[in-house]
Amino acid sequence: MSNESASPARTNGALVHLDDVRKTYHSGEMEVRAVRGVTLEIRQGEFVALMGASGSGKSTLMNILGCLDRPSAGRYLLDRADVSGLDRDQLADIRNSKIGFVFQGFNLLPRTSARENVELPLLYGKHRLSNAQLREKADAVLASVGLQGREDHHPSQLSGGQQQRVAIARALINDPEVLLADEPTGNLDSRTSVEIMGVFQQLNEKGITIIMVTHEPDIAMYTRRNVVMRDGLVQSDRAVAQPFNAKIEAQKLKDIDEPAEM
Ligand code: ADP
Ligand code: MG
Repeated sequence: MSNESASPARTNGALVHLDDVRKTYHSGEMEVRAVRGVTLEIRQGEFVALMGASGSGKSTLMNILGCLDRPSAGRYLLDRADVSGLDRDQLADIRNSKIGFVFQGFNLLPRTSARENVELPLLYGKHRLSNAQLREKADAVLASVGLQGREDHHPSQLSGGQQQRVAIARALINDPEVLLADEPTGNLDSRTSVEIMGVFQQLNEKGITIIMVTHEPDIAMYTRRNVVMRDGLVQSDRAVAQPFNAKIEAQKLKDIDEPAEM
């Protein structure tokens, strides 16, 4: 906690607390108001879909949530610490210790095993681990996303769904407070998308907080809360009354493939 300049603030226990957050981009003469005043609280253990049309400000907001960028105005409290005014190095520290990222394009190193891809964030960590400890930790996280036995496979030897599982394991290796995913199923077919939603649901059941950008309404139905953005503002924010269960939906898809004998 020593690198966090701000003192804890009152946030009603929310893990993420955005207070009138704004982001304006300046490019030449142009001024783009990408986020125009977002107030949002996300509690520990939530699974939230961030939705909205292209250009509505989702990625800008995710960059702020992920401490990749700072708001132009407003306040962002993460885990009760004000991170809105931190400098680049301080933001990097917060990112490494509190946030896991999953991207649409997986972003795995090619010609590098699943295990080594997952170990990578640990090499930048503060704790020096032995090779045996690195391996043990990476293999445990790979197993938790269903990749036991694939530790030595390179990305090209894995399916899209398996590659995204490696990326999820890599995001989890530092025990983050929150997992941020920007269109994690954007490159996957619908069956594999359900599989990945199953991984997220399992992680969420274990208490991991997940914030996921998606423009697919049926994918958003696997989460427990849908926040819709429009023109840089929150247009609606609703609990999902009956979230889809990925296990059940995957079985339905299987039954279509292999109908039971009549
Ligand atoms: P979304 O992810 O919902 O598609 P973005 O957050 O990427 O939306 O973009 C919101 C608005 O901000 C868009 O009008 C986009 O063109 C603009 N924008 C995003 N990033 C930048 C940037 N780095 N510089 C200038 N304008 C940007
Ligand atoms: Mg985007």
